[in-house]
Amino acid sequence: MLYEKLQDKKVNCCLCARKCLINDGGTGFCLVRKNEGGTLFSLNYARAISAAIDPVEKKPLFHFNPGASVMSIATIGCNFRCQFCDNWMISQEKKMSGKHFPPEEVIKAARDNGCEGISYTYTEPTIFFEYAYDTAKLAHQVGFFNTFVTNGYMTPEAVKTISPYLDAATVDFKGGADPEFYKTFSAVPSVAPIFEALKEMRRRNNIHIEITNLIVPKSGDSIERIKELAVWIRDGIGKDTPFHLLRFHPDYELTTIPATPVETLEKAYVAAKDAGLNYVYVGNMPGHPAENTYCPECNEILIKRYNFMITRWNLTKDMRCPVCGHEIPIKGKLHASGQSYPYALF
Ligand code: SF4
Repeated sequence: MLYEKLQDKKVNCCLCARKCLINDGGTGFCLVRKNEGGTLFSLNYARAISAAIDPVEKKPLFHFNPGASVMSIATIGCNFRCQFCDNWMISQEKKMSGKHFPPEEVIKAARDNGCEGISYTYTEPTIFFEYAYDTAKLAHQVGFFNTFVTNGYMTPEAVKTISPYLDAATVDFKGGADPEFYKTFSAVPSVAPIFEALKEMRRRNNIHIEITNLIVPKSGDSIERIKELAVWIRDGIGKDTPFHLLRFHPDYELTTIPATPVETLEKAYVAAKDAGLNYVYVGNMPGHPAENTYCPECNEILIKRYNFMITRWNLTKDMRCPVCGHEIPIKGKLHASGQSYPYALF
């Protein structure tokens, strides 16, 4: 899907913002899309490298069908080269691998495991677009929702194409969206396409958006940048957009950098709130008070969480604060199915 045929059997892939020009016999930067005789093939279609049942809060999605259980799927490959990737064993794998797991079987497994939706996650869903698209279409037919966990480096055309079937997206920033950070640590030449993709998602009113930002000590922990990002989210997407500030853990090639200090996360939290965002969270810090949802009007605790689990629900049936009546933007309804610890199918 989404490529142009050019002269001399070359193709131009238009799925992600790299827009790879691929010669006959070559593959794109993600290594999972191959030009064979002028036709671009998806090598990872229906080849899942991982499948698991997760609470929707693990994505993280805190304002979308809270407590729901989702079937998470991924293939190998990525269009980024993040030195800190915590799924690098599958995202950076070069040898094609994965279990045959066609869309119909994904739906059946989701149903058998009591899920309410499907999440395309762990690796970048843009690079397994056709697999995600076909699964998402089937998922809607049987009443499941679909969520992407994405680095956002998609073309607007890709967003448009998936939008009829995409109900929610978690868009992950790193290093406060600092262009130098992206170049150095993720091999990404520009951050502008991520903002364009977000604007396109916003234009499609049906897609619920939550945004994360990974705070990497020293190189990607500028509070000023986090504030700028929060201001952009407030003005570009809306002040009710949930914004998750994620703690970095040493992984893959960045093992010499320590985990993000709690004080940095808390400063970032204050900066994002000061920028005018109503729902700011701290992630990868189980037990921190900023995992909870507070009423932006009266500060009542509305949803208490521990890690991915909801431990107390304090909203009225019509999603209002029980103290002051303020309406809390939560899409969907409360579910009980996701309140078990995540488990892998393979
Ligand atoms: S999806 Fe892959 S082949 Fe297509 S533009 Fe992105 S990196 Fe290149």
